[in-house]
Amino acid sequence: MFRKILIANRGEIACRIMRTARRLNVATVAVYSEADASALHVEMADEAVLLGPAPAAQSYLAIDKVIAAAVATGAEAIHPGYGFLSENARFAEACAKMGIAFIGPPASAIHAMGSKSESKKLMEAAGVPLVPGYHGAEQADSHLIAEAMKIGFPVLIKASAGGGGKGMRIVLEERELLPAIEGARREAKSAFGDERLLIEKYLERPRHVEVQVFADSLGEAVYIHDRDCSIQRRHQKVIEEAPAPGLSDDTRRRMGEAAVAAAKAVGYVGAGTVEFLYAERQFYFIEMNTRLQVEHPVTEMIAGIDLVEWQLRVAAGEPLPERQAELQRYGHAMEVRLYAEDPAKGFLPATGRIAHLAWPANAPQIRIDSGVRAGDRISTFYDPMIAKVIAWGEDRAIAAQRLRRALQETELAGLATNAGFLIEVLGHPAFLKAEIDTGFIERHRAELFPASGTGGEATPDRALALAAIFAVLKDGAASKAKAAAGADPHSPWAATNGWRVFGDGGASVLLRDAAGKRREARIAFSGPRWSIAVDDGAPLSLTGPALDGNALTAGTDHGRLRLTAIEADGTVTLIERGKSWRIGRVDILAEAEAATEGHGHLASPMPGTVVRVMAAAGDAVKRGQPLMVVEAMKMEHTIAAHADGVVKAVKFRAGDAVAEGVELISFEAGS
Ligand code: ADP
Repeated sequence: MFRKILIANRGEIACRIMRTARRLNVATVAVYSEADASALHVEMADEAVLLGPAPAAQSYLAIDKVIAAAVATGAEAIHPGYGFLSENARFAEACAKMGIAFIGPPASAIHAMGSKSESKKLMEAAGVPLVPGYHGAEQADSHLIAEAMKIGFPVLIKASAGGGGKGMRIVLEERELLPAIEGARREAKSAFGDERLLIEKYLERPRHVEVQVFADSLGEAVYIHDRDCSIQRRHQKVIEEAPAPGLSDDTRRRMGEAAVAAAKAVGYVGAGTVEFLYAERQFYFIEMNTRLQVEHPVTEMIAGIDLVEWQLRVAAGEPLPERQAELQRYGHAMEVRLYAEDPAKGFLPATGRIAHLAWPANAPQIRIDSGVRAGDRISTFYDPMIAKVIAWGEDRAIAAQRLRRALQETELAGLATNAGFLIEVLGHPAFLKAEIDTGFIERHRAELFPASGTGGEATPDRALALAAIFAVLKDGAASKAKAAAGADPHSPWAATNGWRVFGDGGASVLLRDAAGKRREARIAFSGPRWSIAVDDGAPLSLTGPALDGNALTAGTDHGRLRLTAIEADGTVTLIERGKSWRIGRVDILAEAEAATEGHGHLASPMPGTVVRVMAAAGDAVKRGQPLMVVEAMKMEHTIAAHADGVVKAVKFRAGDAVAEGVELISFEAGS
């Protein structure tokens, strides 16, 4: 076994690898960027080496710097985690050249599987079923269009070098083809530096089922069960489970054997995942990922093994710890990816500081893989995943229930997350019946979004009322209000920012809901009884509200409510059983300014780069018409007209960098 390894990654996966290394008495070296100087993975490691500035290209992706760090610290091996350099054949070669063990497959296997097109050719030859499609070398627009027409709509355009759902476009009809090809190519080029595309028949409602494979350097290979990762948004996994529900033993075996054949075909060593789409009892190869997957913990839980330990042993030349016949399967495991993102805004990544973070205490059979703690920032530089929460259960229903409960007991404030949304999915009757496929989220939108506490349009009045109570209690306003009642109506309290007293034992709090709308909560005090009305809504009546630290409690007609309330950067986060509402506190002075803002302006949703401008000053445009495309975090975001109207000015050109919230286009609604 190695004495010392370097982990060329960050966040939860770096921390997770270090936990296994520590258990095996292997010393750890962390690498980090300037943005991560105080990150958890740096703190956990025995040694840490600064790579460079925050952008990954100058730090986590800088092959020379990572190799130099390993040499300088005397690390014998490098674990790349997932993402970053994990599937980079040049990096694997660079390690080999320096006599450092790369904890992953040989460069040749990464190379063979690195292109979806090439790997498909290999699989075709090995007799593994493929989704019908085109994966050839000819890339001219006219040729791609002709191939797409041959396949028949709907088709899916993918980046050959793709990953993480980036560069993918579904095309339903001929006239959408060319713009989709152009968009996919641009995204592929910027995300992977490789603009080659492939086209597949777009399967309606397939399931994503994948097989964990493992091979040693002695020629032995096994499959360690399967996983279902059908719950996806933007073709990216959010909930994963093992085993894949409802497959026959025969199907499992055939998929497993096909996966092992795929691994053997490329001389694979280490952990890998062979991904399939599964529809109408048929499975089709889509790609092989030549690394440890984000979702590997669900396999670990049902197999009772530590895949990182296996990786280290195999990289050190040891045989596989278990043979196919020895592998066991226990119960069911399920994982959610907790992301800093706003489900109500199309799952737009969110950034900001984690103002408060508390994981569930004493939750049975729950594993939390996290790389952050309260106070840490989620930046635009890296993936916005905050943590993975994984549950094991004797069966699927128990695993789902435990996972849901763990999320309900998790408290996180400071930025938008998908926690409330995940809770809705985990409790959805169709999910519980395992009626899942990759269209699940889209199909159940109407039930999943409004209830999840992230619904952009509607922040419930109840949440606004509670935020007002919190504001008043936090500012010590209650006593001030009472003192002011009937006393001096011009007391300074009347001018307090965000809330003011009105004469008869009451207060008014100005808030902003998730849709950005200004709302007023008026509270009337009568002894211990508080009555709160939001705008013209029916009042909510509570008794004896109290704030103790972050805990907000109050008596209701049915009992007592308890929630967690945190204020950071002008936003109140209310957390109740894992669902959270983010409510702005209105700054009265800033209000006047806002009032003069006038007509709509279209702002950048996050820091990024303008990649395309489709409108010019003076253009009359229709509601929903795309005006500009901004790329941020390697995803394209289309800025569309929010109403029919006229473009007054376009403030940026393609190639310009834009900060979050800056005005991109000024716009006048109405024609
Ligand atoms: P990436 O490498 O970017 O993650 P994949 O090829 O692994 O891309 O596909 C990701 C997801 O996209 C799949 O899990 C599935 O939901 C969807 N997908 C991929 N190919 C198809 C297809 N031919 N038909 C329908 N959905 C597909």
